[in-house]
Amino acid sequence: MSYKLFIPGPIAVSEKTLRAMARPMIGHRSNDFVALYQSIQPDLQSLMGTKDPVYLSTSSAWGVMEGAIGNVVRKKVLNCMNGAFSDKWYDVALRVGKQATALRFDWGKPVDPEAVRRELATGGYDALTLIHNETSCGCMSDLPAIMKVLREFPEVISIVDTVSSFSAMPLAKDELGIDVLVTGSQKALALPPGLSLVSVSARALERAAGTEGRGYYFDFVEFQKNHEQGMTPSTPAISLIYALQSKLEDIRAEGVTNRHARHARLNRTVREHVLAKGFTMFPPAGYGSVTLNCFANNLGYDLAALNKTLKSKHHLVIDGGYGKLKGKTFRISNMGDETDETIAAMLAAFDSALAETPRLPAA
Ligand SMILES: *Cc1c(COP(=O)(O)O)cnc(C)c1O
Repeated sequence: MSYKLFIPGPIAVSEKTLRAMARPMIGHRSNDFVALYQSIQPDLQSLMGTKDPVYLSTSSAWGVMEGAIGNVVRKKVLNCMNGAFSDKWYDVALRVGKQATALRFDWGKPVDPEAVRRELATGGYDALTLIHNETSCGCMSDLPAIMKVLREFPEVISIVDTVSSFSAMPLAKDELGIDVLVTGSQKALALPPGLSLVSVSARALERAAGTEGRGYYFDFVEFQKNHEQGMTPSTPAISLIYALQSKLEDIRAEGVTNRHARHARLNRTVREHVLAKGFTMFPPAGYGSVTLNCFANNLGYDLAALNKTLKSKHHLVIDGGYGKLKGKTFRISNMGDETDETIAAMLAAFDSALAETPRLPAA
């Protein structure tokens, strides 16, 4: 039985995208590949708000998230943590043998720019990791405000994850001074998983060139060398690059501004609908994600039962809470290709399934 994903990634992939992936293979050192690679650069740069190259990595986002640390951290990295993905980045930094400091906020609370300033001012940092949109708890931090703080610390290379916000809202990498911007394929871009994109500033590239032990597969210097030839260091997931090319066509056809407006509108539709049932938001007002809503399960519904009904009777699933928030929150994605009609149909299914879902006794 097939069912549609309204979890915050992976998400539903369109027939058009799937057909693009079925195109015949080409050699990754052929002129055809170079043409493909070079054809998508301008759109990717424009979506990121950058003049820097956008490298294509055959890995999920964690590949380049770990790789970025290996490339730019020589002294010590500050990991801003407010949810599952940002928490894990600290763990990853330690695992690759770097000195790292955890700057912790409660899950669902945004990263506080003042706290970032205070900690960076203690000195010794040469890099920082930040997740723009903490998908695990549907919380979006104030990227411009945090980057304003970062610009006071020119020795600190910023590594920003936009996995679940990229292409759904405006991003201004160069204007904000973001050094390394990372995104993945299976969230807001609505592609299958397996491809990640990373844009690296000249000064981050310079840092990488002098950093020992940065390995090969995620070496920014290798990416840059190959980029100059219109290629990737190793054989890339060519089918996913075809899918990306197809998605960029879709984005151009819709118009970027329309795309951003659609995400904002659908996000609001879901939020207002579910709040009207008496649920509350998990993140504080003003810090909700634009690509998903994370609601508190304040009414105590049996979320596993809810999802079971959604799947068996309505052929769709939402998310019943990430990690330690399982059962306590639920998340509904409005990423990718959703429309007013598909969101309305999902919400009708949600209402119907909720009506037959039991509430659990208070713990
Ligand atoms: C999903 C997600 C990731 C992890 O991506 P993988 O594809 O599993 O490597 C990282 N950051 C954020 C914000 C995400 O939503």
